[in-house]
Amino acid sequence: MTLLAVAEAGRGVVDADTPVLHADDEGVLRGRAVFETIRVYEGVPFRLEEHLARLGASAAQLGLPAVERDLLRAAALDALAASHEPNAVLRLLWTPGREGSGRATGLALVSTLPEDHDGLRARGLRLAVVTWAPGALVAGVKSTSYAENIAAQADAARRGADDALFVDPGGVVLEAPTSNVWWREGTRLVTPALALPILAGVTRAVLVESLPRLGLELVEGSFPLERPLHADEVFLSSSVREVMPVVAIDGSVIGDGRPGPVAVALQRALRTAAGYPEAG
Ligand code: PLP
Repeated sequence: MTLLAVAEAGRGVVDADTPVLHADDEGVLRGRAVFETIRVYEGVPFRLEEHLARLGASAAQLGLPAVERDLLRAAALDALAASHEPNAVLRLLWTPGREGSGRATGLALVSTLPEDHDGLRARGLRLAVVTWAPGALVAGVKSTSYAENIAAQADAARRGADDALFVDPGGVVLEAPTSNVWWREGTRLVTPALALPILAGVTRAVLVESLPRLGLELVEGSFPLERPLHADEVFLSSSVREVMPVVAIDGSVIGDGRPGPVAVALQRALRTAAGYPEAG
């Protein structure tokens, strides 16, 4: 991804190559900040209000100053206009600012889309299982402390996989480092429950809305790894990845080893919900 434009809440568009945070910003020093990643389709940030709401909830859980939604929304739209890129990734960052200042900084960043996603969607991902014990106080918070998530992805890459699948120490399937996980058992679509320490994905919620139209029954709960391993198909969901099929977990082939039909149908449903069906 290449950074195209940056805007600061309350200040407007700033030079994307000029630093906007201080060295003692708490987000930098301690990873104590929150963020959102949003897909922009034809100039419109998809489910922006849901992302702003989740950013506000994450900030509240970390005890950060309240998110100034109107200023951040305006910054997002300014950055998008300055980027001249209708199909892009929008990231929002909310940091409490300089140590002891109590003055938060909100940033909106617009970047190009990752290049490899359509190819990966066509071939399907290989996942490697990583055991993960999420911290109870920050579970489900989209904080900038993503070092463990990125380390898990690096571990998966070393093991020849495309991404990681988090399983807790008791063997319960959680999510991927930057996506939610789903699998299909016949006409039942299964996904870890939000009561588990996972992020409540905005894309997850959109897919849940689409299931009845596709004749699928939603099953949420706490499940061991054997369930996705023996499923008919497995896929991930996130704002930027959208619906991404999974064809193998720790070398075990899922289904017939090709992207499954429900992943393809839900990708189309997601694009339709985003008002962008022609590119699905
Ligand atoms: N789970 C984690 C840990 C994430 O970081 C993300 C997104 O970045 C998701 C799930 C998917 O969330 P969303 O669909 O809102 O992008």
